[in-house]
Amino acid sequence: TRQAIVAANWKMNGNLSLVKEMVSGLKQVTLASNVNVVVCPSFPYLAAFSAESAEQSLSATICLGAQNMSEQQSGAFTGEVSSEMLTEVSAKYVILGHSERRTLYKESSTLVASKVTKALEAGLIPILCIGESEEERISDQTETVLASQIQPVIDAIGIEKFSGVVIAYEPVWAIGTGKTASPEMAQETHAFIRQYLANESQKIAQKVPLLYGGSVNRGNFEQLFAQTDIDGGLIGGASLNVDEFSVICSAA
Ligand code: 13P
Repeated sequence: TRQAIVAANWKMNGNLSLVKEMVSGLKQVTLASNVNVVVCPSFPYLAAFSAESAEQSLSATICLGAQNMSEQQSGAFTGEVSSEMLTEVSAKYVILGHSERRTLYKESSTLVASKVTKALEAGLIPILCIGESEEERISDQTETVLASQIQPVIDAIGIEKFSGVVIAYEPVWAIGTGKTASPEMAQETHAFIRQYLANESQKIAQKVPLLYGGSVNRGNFEQLFAQTDIDGGLIGGASLNVDEFSVICSAA
């Protein structure tokens, strides 16, 4: 069985109290043996999450992730955060290429590919986000867009290293809108993504966890996670609610 992952993307939300409450809440959760939980708070809370996890002896299957990272090693890059800074505060994962980064901060697929390369060099597991806009879905460009977001990463790291990458498919039209892709539509798209990787390596394609993201909540996650090619979720709004997120994690 593939690794399953439930990841919380807090975006620019949360505070120190939520860090403590989330660690306490997750401590009560029993996870299936193939499930990893990843909590991704904003940078100022990463060290606090690690300290709190250690203090409460949180299981190692509940890990820390960041929401972004620089493609640079170190130096005069004001406001940026490096891969080594993330590993030093015990982050294990890093979300890269989230649609909000691509759209609002103009991150190109080439830049995202450099970040993935850098993350792997530092021993981090990148959660590579891809997804089409509503306009692209309507005009039947979904597969072209997804391919254009994956291919630069394959070109940068080679298919073999994808064994250390997680992909999150997040249709832009489903993010924060309450509109979820139907389980069938999500499965169809995930199958396309897996097939795209399989064209390079069948073995690697079978290993890469493919997460679904976009308005996942306690009411819809079960049907989504039941799909063959959906290996978990990347959860925004619902991950800010300790009870709701815990329910999703425990049933994954
Ligand atoms: P929502 O779950 O709030 O729609 O956000 C999804 C997302 O962008 C997670 O990265």
